[in-house]
Amino acid sequence: MTFQSVLTQARSEHRTLLNEVEAKQVLGEAGVSVTVTTLATSADEAAKQAEAAGYPVVLKVVSPDIAHKSDAGGVKLNLNNTAEVKAAYAEIVASCTKAVPNANIVGVAVQHMAPQGTEVIIGMTTDAQFGPVMMFGLGGIMVEVLKDVSFRLVPLTDRDANQMINEIKGRPILDGVRGQPASDIAALKSTIVKVAKFVEDHPEVRELDLNPVFAYPDGAIAVDARIIVAEA
Ligand code: ADP
Ligand code: MG
Repeated sequence: MTFQSVLTQARSEHRTLLNEVEAKQVLGEAGVSVTVTTLATSADEAAKQAEAAGYPVVLKVVSPDIAHKSDAGGVKLNLNNTAEVKAAYAEIVASCTKAVPNANIVGVAVQHMAPQGTEVIIGMTTDAQFGPVMMFGLGGIMVEVLKDVSFRLVPLTDRDANQMINEIKGRPILDGVRGQPASDIAALKSTIVKVAKFVEDHPEVRELDLNPVFAYPDGAIAVDARIIVAEA
């Protein structure tokens, strides 16, 4: 599915939020490293897709009415067999229905569970005056509490991406501290550049969040993605 077909589908449903499956599909096509994610609309389908994804797997709610999936009980990690997958499917639907009573639950996203890495965030927002702006930061409390993030306007060069990574206060964490491994800076830089290029190529994109991206000593992969497009 190309960006155009995903956009057409979303607009036909009067949605501006591309779900995780759609967002990862279009970003994957743009060369961004993402966990391969499929949409299951039943527990049986989820179990089949889990085999294909390879255990352990992660299940997450797909709903245009639920932006923060964990908060609604919509994320189940580290599922190791068919029985666990089927139970998780039912639990996700039950807790999300309870958390957001009239939510339209389209199904559940199925993906392989990636090994833990250093969590970073790569995002984009549209500034009323300057247009698309890229954002980079370390995941978790570093962004939420300390607002330790850097920004650059799109279009963005390799050098800009490097500076974005180097100017955050938490930069030493990416070199590895307290026995934590170092992060692949070249892979992070390349991810920022590819996302910026994707944004440049698709002016309909208004907001984009890869939160988190797992950074490893060798490579980096986005395990969550969300895109907001402009209204038709
Ligand atoms: P949301 O941000 O909507 O609550 P996420 O998709 O970010 O949901 O999932 C919540 C957390 O679960 C992530 O921050 C990450 O730590 C973990 N997680 C999500 N997907 C994966 C995955 N494929 N592999 C490993 N961990 C994951
Ligand atoms: Mg997330």
